[in-house]
Amino acid sequence: MTTTIIDGKAFAEKVRGRVAGFVAGLKERGITPGLAVVLVGEDPASQVYVRNKGKQTLEVGMNSHGHKLPADTSEADLLALINQLNADPAIHGILVQLPLPGHLNSDLVINSIDPAKDVDGFHISNVGLLGTGQKAMVPCTPLGCLMMLRDHLGSLAGLNAVVVGRSNIVGKPMAQLLLGDNCTVTIAHSRTKDLAEVCRRADILVAAVGRPEMIPGDWVKPGATVIDVGINRVPAPDKGEGKTRLVGDVHYESAAAVAGAITPVPGGVGPMTIACLLANTLIACHRANGLPEPEGLTA
Ligand code: NDP
Repeated sequence: MTTTIIDGKAFAEKVRGRVAGFVAGLKERGITPGLAVVLVGEDPASQVYVRNKGKQTLEVGMNSHGHKLPADTSEADLLALINQLNADPAIHGILVQLPLPGHLNSDLVINSIDPAKDVDGFHISNVGLLGTGQKAMVPCTPLGCLMMLRDHLGSLAGLNAVVVGRSNIVGKPMAQLLLGDNCTVTIAHSRTKDLAEVCRRADILVAAVGRPEMIPGDWVKPGATVIDVGINRVPAPDKGEGKTRLVGDVHYESAAAVAGAITPVPGGVGPMTIACLLANTLIACHRANGLPEPEGLTA
């Protein structure tokens, strides 16, 4: 079987292009969407993510507001900044980069963001709205997966979807979105019995585990659509001493031999996450200004 490689990089470029088009329209009305990204501490991976987010925000014509705070910032100071951003009409989206240093309560911090500006979709109100099928801010990674699935498969109604992983940022919202699109959804996790059999029933298999190449091709139903959320860095001695490479949670070669379609790692889900962050900021800006929402950029 020839598998289709779902090109997340190209898809993300298309999404960013659409967002940029809408931003240009808003600017003609004198409105510029603004995204504030708050980084506490010096975590190197977080610094890279925040830099990329800022760069891509500017590229689509939005304003980017970076707030870098020292690692020992007090909870009171962080909450004061969030309150200030909540009240600022030039800010339409607020993102607090996770993980936060251990002395800060992430739940408290996230839940202090105005839900209308919560472009990560992690605020308890947005979680509840998504869970009850109401208009929410949808977490970016699963939103990107849903967009790619719709683009590739059209209607998802009636398909068996298996999501491996039940985190609040990927697995659970992914399952809610698939349910919203009328899939029959199974959520699997570390206590699932006979995971291989569960995966083999999937027309749509979403892997969000964080274990390199854990899902082999013989767990994949022939013709299934496989979405690999995992980003794992593993040693790559073939590239030279001390070198590494990125792999997903799915064993790509064996899965691609049976799947109908599959996202590669890198170049699959990853690039869609920031594109969806920009889409969420655009939507938040439209909502804040009482404008009709752009089609096709949300769940
Ligand atoms: P978490 O560690 O929060 O959750 C992992 C989930 O996988 C848990 O629900 C856990 O089950 C389950 N799990 C762990 N081991 C097994 C196993 N052996 N069998 C079945 N299930 C298992 O991870 P995240 O959801 O945050 O991230 C998952 C992956 O996605 C990571 O590789 C991460 O880097 C990547 N990621 C990629 C993003 C992107 O932009 N592409 C964005 C976010 C994450 P249990 O609950 O029982 O412990």
